[in-house]
Amino acid sequence: MKKTTGESLLADEPSRSAIWPVLTKIDADLAAQACAQGCACGGALHRSDYPRKVRGVNVEARRDSFCCAEEGCRRRVTPGSVRFLGRRIYAGFIVVLLTALRHGLTAERVTALREHLGVDGRTLERWRAWWLQDFAPGRRWQAARGLFIPPPGEATLPWSLWRSFGDDGEKSLLDLLRFLTPWSTRAVPGN
Ligand SMILES: [Zn+2]
Repeated sequence: MKKTTGESLLADEPSRSAIWPVLTKIDADLAAQACAQGCACGGALHRSDYPRKVRGVNVEARRDSFCCAEEGCRRRVTPGSVRFLGRRIYAGFIVVLLTALRHGLTAERVTALREHLGVDGRTLERWRAWWLQDFAPGRRWQAARGLFIPPPGEATLPWSLWRSFGDDGEKSLLDLLRFLTPWSTRAVPGN
């Protein structure tokens, strides 16, 4: 059976790890922009990256992060990311793709991918609940959804949103992950 791009990307560790350098480069650009912007107080930002565990890919990952150099501020500024979605331990694209494919593949094929990744059924349901109960009603999404014609169906998020960026290919996935960067720094729960 022919595999879709999303399914192939998740199906084996080398494929998952192969996309990581692409995502790391996008994150480096986002970090450079954040650094150039500086702190809200006007202070300069200094590098203060920290290690991040990441499941599903075979990499040593560091989260781009900064600290304000201004005495009395020292605010931490963590730019948006296409690699991480909140504090979840799985790479962000795995969270996005697996929940999306739940609407694009048969249940059997989703279960096979999920088990291969070591994601239990309850975790996948929690990820899906986040799209429906936190993401969809949120102010940021409600403001952005009108940019899409027609607006993506909310019951099949994030599959419907991914489709809005084009076909099943890698480019549309990268566009989707870029779109999601404002959510990447929010207090999305772990797992
Ligand atoms: Zn500051």
